[in-house]
Amino acid sequence: MTPERFAKIQQVLALRQPTLSVLMDEVNKPHNFSAILRTCDAVGVLRAYAVPPKNGDVPTFNATSGSAEKWVAVERRENAVSAVRELQAQGVQVLATHLSQRSVDYREMDYTRPTCILLGAEKWGVSDEAADAADANIIIPMFGMVQSLNVSVAAATILFEAQRQRLAAGMYAASQLPAAELARLTFEWAYPDLAPLYRESQESYPALGKQGELPVAAETQQP
Ligand code: SAM
Repeated sequence: MTPERFAKIQQVLALRQPTLSVLMDEVNKPHNFSAILRTCDAVGVLRAYAVPPKNGDVPTFNATSGSAEKWVAVERRENAVSAVRELQAQGVQVLATHLSQRSVDYREMDYTRPTCILLGAEKWGVSDEAADAADANIIIPMFGMVQSLNVSVAAATILFEAQRQRLAAGMYAASQLPAAELARLTFEWAYPDLAPLYRESQESYPALGKQGELPVAAETQQP
């Protein structure tokens, strides 16, 4: 762990937005899934939720050094409607990207509120049930011959509007993560090989030095 790498990790974690997320409902193409996570990383989304496609699993790539999968936690959910309700119970507004009678232009929403963007499957879109359960339905206006955007393009368009609003509101100016979570993530990002060993042995992560260095004891004796 170089001091530069550690500084970069701290800088990125300080910009993470725990109150902004996406819920991918049966997004089945790995390149779309990966592109959405890459945008999440760029905007500062901390956590994404994914409902696996009916005939498959949540698409994943082996994490290569440049891949966003390493930096955005993906939590699996079995069903979009129950995931929507779970988020709402936590005070999160769920905005379904869905064309319906009540759809509004995505720019009309307030993304400084705790928000989750519900994205639909490439083939079917968001189900009517999940769209009904959501707090609002939003669309990106389309003026061309084609009816819809690629799901990763739609995700990026909306997430960067959220970033714009949050920047204006000063939400990137100070860390949004509670101190304990910040310390946990800092260790896990800095020492991804060591962190699972601590978890398996149910030991707390050691406190790191100012430049990310391990305490001498942890260097010589691993859990
Ligand atoms: N045939 C599908 C339908 O009727 O919804 C098209 C799905 S579209 C290719 C895949 C996903 O991209 C949608 O479920 C939505 O999440 C997002 N999307 C695409 N175009 C959009 C737009 N103009 N506004 C909002 N979301 C859009």
